[in-house]
Amino acid sequence: MRTSQYILATLKETPSDAEIVSHQLMLRAGMIRRVASGLYTWLPSGLRVLKKVENIVREEMDKAGAIEMLMPIIQPADLWEESGRWEQFGPELLRINDRHNRPFALGPTHEEVITDFVRKEVSSYKQLPLTLYQVQTKVRDEVRPRFGVMRAREFTMKDAYSFHLSDECLEKTYQVMHKAYCNIFERLGLDYRPVIADTGSIGGSVSHEFHVLAESGEDAIAFSDASDYAANIEKAEALAPAEERPAASKELKAFPTPDARSIAELKEHYGVKPHRGVKTLIVYGAPDENEQRGLVALVLRGDHDLNELKAEKHPLVDSPLEMAKEEDIVAAIGAKPGSLGPVGLSMPIIVDRTANVMADFVAGANKDGEHFSGINWDRDVENYEVADIRNIVEGDPSPCGQGSLQIKRGVEVGHIFQLGTKYSEAMKAGVLSESGKNQVMTMGCYGIGVSRIVAAAIEQNNDQYGIKWPQPIAPFDLAIVPMNMHKSHRIPDIADNLYKGLKDAGLDVLFDDRKERPGVMFNDMELLGVPFTLVIGERNLDENKVELKNRRTGEKLMLDLDSAASEIA
Ligand code: ATP
Ligand code: MG
Ligand code: MG
Ligand code: MG
Repeated sequence: MRTSQYILATLKETPSDAEIVSHQLMLRAGMIRRVASGLYTWLPSGLRVLKKVENIVREEMDKAGAIEMLMPIIQPADLWEESGRWEQFGPELLRINDRHNRPFALGPTHEEVITDFVRKEVSSYKQLPLTLYQVQTKVRDEVRPRFGVMRAREFTMKDAYSFHLSDECLEKTYQVMHKAYCNIFERLGLDYRPVIADTGSIGGSVSHEFHVLAESGEDAIAFSDASDYAANIEKAEALAPAEERPAASKELKAFPTPDARSIAELKEHYGVKPHRGVKTLIVYGAPDENEQRGLVALVLRGDHDLNELKAEKHPLVDSPLEMAKEEDIVAAIGAKPGSLGPVGLSMPIIVDRTANVMADFVAGANKDGEHFSGINWDRDVENYEVADIRNIVEGDPSPCGQGSLQIKRGVEVGHIFQLGTKYSEAMKAGVLSESGKNQVMTMGCYGIGVSRIVAAAIEQNNDQYGIKWPQPIAPFDLAIVPMNMHKSHRIPDIADNLYKGLKDAGLDVLFDDRKERPGVMFNDMELLGVPFTLVIGERNLDENKVELKNRRTGEKLMLDLDSAASEIA
């Protein structure tokens, strides 16, 4: 590719609306552009990386015996009603009506469509086991799209689904997929960890997530320092022994409502100790000012702008929390509409059904301008089921019994599940067994965030000059930078010959033939993260040499002009 015929679209300034380094660099390196919140155009350089990731994923899926197909993005509501998820999925499911006013969803995942396909096409145990996959655009109306393609509303996922007659068979394929995922992340050259995970809204029993380790990761993962144990934080918390529970508080202290905008400011104002582990917990809403029964908990991870929450109309937490409509909460706790705490006033509120009783909550009183502190939430509050979950911190004993826990941050790039019969039963997907009886199939599903991997790889591979791609997913293998080519008699031909030779040898070569200063060209190639740059300059040519620069190590190697192409290839 010649830069003069390409669109590099690099930017000098760091875009101010990009919070994390991968988002900044993807914009600056000309990989993506924002179209609207959570929606991005992939520019040629970005698309090259996306396709390389996709191909590695595809090759490993094929090797693992999965078979590629393609399902539509638009899915009929009937299928989602059959599985029960039309109701359950919530506002992340983007729903549309067609011209006949028939309801559809833009697929956030494809369990329903694939189960429908397999129940129609597969009728005998002889056709099992069967693993099918696709690489397809997924749509999720994320409550808080952010970090560029890391949490987008439209993204590329590889999703595979397996069908079996028995759980033993499912278990076997699950292990094959687990191994295939490890192969994928090894080949991508990323520092990753498989961790035990909760199954969340997809359902099922056994599940693992694959995380790329990065400080900016939205998830926390816990490892034992003395064994292979690794789990996502929710799972580690669910497995940790429950904390002793504080008694429900008798006396609440009233405070004037602070003029705070964020949870962090509220915490500071009240001197609330940060909650153990990763959660921040602040409670709003009481049915009357002296009673803590019926408090509604708003549990947030990290710091959030309360005004933004209000504006968004729905808060932004992930599982295991559930969203409840304000009217439902009002009905459940017997409060008057509009009487929830000052911040919870006009938005749907999240009810934490899993938090253990914890002390020192802050709550908005049922009175303008007043807050309470020192609240201990009574776990037996009517209408709320509460499980024994506690927050874990670094140094806690590992649930596996060996060693203590270390906590790191990660980006969830893959997630695999043993679904069992959740979908096949609801959708009556059965086959004839050997004994001639109809038997419900058991299923697995296996997702990889192909587009998220691109961003996660940058989080792990960058420096102050730009991206440092692992070779297998670099947009180009090598850049040719001829210095001041337009003032030289011999450089144009030499550069052209090297370009052709390297291309013929099968390399992805970017030939920077712009009339730019060498510094500008070097900066762009470093920003874009091309692993090698071949520099052609008059002075070295006098000695019949060209220079090969390694982006990752900074090493420079002098090559003989005549053998350069064959040596590099
Ligand atoms: P998250 O916890 O980050 O919201 P998830 O658990 O909802 O992800 P899954 O349903 O497990 O996601 O989907 C499989 C994979 O798809 C995830 O592991 C992730 O890599 C990717 N993915 C999910 N949501 C997004 C998104 N909004 N943007 C980009 N990739 C995503
Ligand atoms: Mg999600
Ligand atoms: Mg998740
Ligand atoms: Mg997941």
